[in-house]
Amino acid sequence: MAGTILLVEDEPSVGELVRGYLQRSGYRVVWVRSGEEALVEVERHPVKMVVLDIGLPGMDGFDVCRAMRGKSQVPILMLTARDEEPDRVVGLEVGADDYLTKPFSPRELVARMKAIFRRTEPQERYERFALGDVVLDRESHDVTVDGRPIELTAKEFELLAFFMANAGVVVSRDLLLDRVWGQEYPGGTRTVDVHVAQLRRKLGRPDLIRTFRGAGYKAVA
Ligand code: CA
Repeated sequence: MAGTILLVEDEPSVGELVRGYLQRSGYRVVWVRSGEEALVEVERHPVKMVVLDIGLPGMDGFDVCRAMRGKSQVPILMLTARDEEPDRVVGLEVGADDYLTKPFSPRELVARMKAIFRRTEPQERYERFALGDVVLDRESHDVTVDGRPIELTAKEFELLAFFMANAGVVVSRDLLLDRVWGQEYPGGTRTVDVHVAQLRRKLGRPDLIRTFRGAGYKAVA
């Protein structure tokens, strides 16, 4: 059993698709159709992650996220109806761990969930990540390429660690700013581009971090 997921989705077709796929992936799914029910159920089960639609009858996903964040650090993945910048930014501001734009494939949902687990589960903090011949060791703070040590600044190290923990998933500049830089956004999303360029140059592996126009970056082997 991979754990219990609280699914908050009022649309039957999306809810059934997601529940079915998550169950086949080994998760136990508690599915509710409103934010009010979600706030009740999250207290009643050992919820490992909340998959939360923004557009709900009654309180919306942002309100639910705020209310949950008031008392718990349970990972929250938000589902947005359109690829709209304000929704994504507000989602991150109210404490969501990530967001996914509808329509999405269940496979992508599970990949995102696993990426969130990798970066939120405490035992994973000391993990060693390897992608191609690039190896990052969180404990010793070492990065090597083909066995050669590479000198990175603290931000470059955190950025690379985030990419490696989310390998195979497109991460937006907003998410990178939020997770790697926190509240200080020096120069906005351009800062991300500058650091990615530096990382590519220092690693000498320009294809490791791919640019997805209008969407963000993805680390691939
Ligand atoms: Ca909805």
